[in-house]
Amino acid sequence: MSTEQTTNHDVYKTLLESTKAIPWKIDWQTMTFAYIGPQIETLLGWSQDSWVSAQDWASRMHPEDQAWVVDFCVSQSRSGTDHEADYRALTKDGRYVWIRDVVHVIRNAAGEVESLVGFMLDISERKKTEEQLLKLQKELEELSFKDGLTGVANRRMFDSVLEIEWTTARRHGSPLSLIMFDIDYFKQYNDHYGHLQGDECLKQVATLLASSAVRARDFFARFGGEEFVLILPDTDAASAQLVAHRCRNLLFKAQIPHANSPSGQILSLSMGAGTMIPTHQEQALSFVEQVDQRLYQAKQRGRNCLVNA
Ligand code: GH3
Ligand code: MG
Ligand code: MG
Repeated sequence: MSTEQTTNHDVYKTLLESTKAIPWKIDWQTMTFAYIGPQIETLLGWSQDSWVSAQDWASRMHPEDQAWVVDFCVSQSRSGTDHEADYRALTKDGRYVWIRDVVHVIRNAAGEVESLVGFMLDISERKKTEEQLLKLQKELEELSFKDGLTGVANRRMFDSVLEIEWTTARRHGSPLSLIMFDIDYFKQYNDHYGHLQGDECLKQVATLLASSAVRARDFFARFGGEEFVLILPDTDAASAQLVAHRCRNLLFKAQIPHANSPSGQILSLSMGAGTMIPTHQEQALSFVEQVDQRLYQAKQRGRNCLVNA
């Protein structure tokens, strides 16, 4: 090497070894490291001279990443394609660090693969942010379909599920049933026991009613305030009536005190139910309105009862 070349070489070396990215070179024929930056020891704990063969690289990797990363990098390299791979590298003290390996394939004059050069980048911060974002997104998705107080599905979810079940029932020509519930004299409950106790009561009623829906596609939601709703796919009027009675019995067995209720000393609810085989002439919304009408009639008839026709 000339003096000038030596100087350049030193400059490049200094530059490479002072970046956060860790440079490396692998000789393709022997599958051994021709070089790896000293920063590797700071990042992973393994000393610079412990990186001898490609095997050392492959073995210092999370077991779940190992197979696909090695396969991917070898096949890309063999075909002469530059590539990159994200994986978890094993540290000397047994932790994992997310790495992005960026690989450039160098060929000789005959076009054969001669060596691979690349950089290892520490992407753990980025990955952490990504994971946090994903988690947040999932939580948000869940929250947006879940009622905050009772933990059951909310109105928004009800609307989506009803639309799907409505269409499915129409296609199959099968009966779809709906039961709507409204707690009797709940204003008086709040007035007597306080709003917080009212909230507790709503949670208890929600859990109870939800447990009455036993088939896989039965769907229970909080419709709003102290109103709940049950979608019963593939269910005729007689079966829906059975479910409604089961709900009423469950609530009666719970014997939730309601000292101020004009219809007795315990909490009760009114129910409206309906069943239909949907056609193109009707809409899910008018079905809901019809059942809501029946719920209103149940209130008119003195509460604590079911109207289903
Ligand atoms: P009715 O028998 O006619 O249904 O009488 P009601 O008192 O239950 O009347 P209505 O359905 O109009 O009133 C519902 C009450 O439920 C009013 C409201 O204060 C209460 N409520 C609605 N949402 C909540 C809630 O999240 N927590 C509590 N504690 N109360 C609620
Ligand atoms: Mg109400
Ligand atoms: Mg009510």
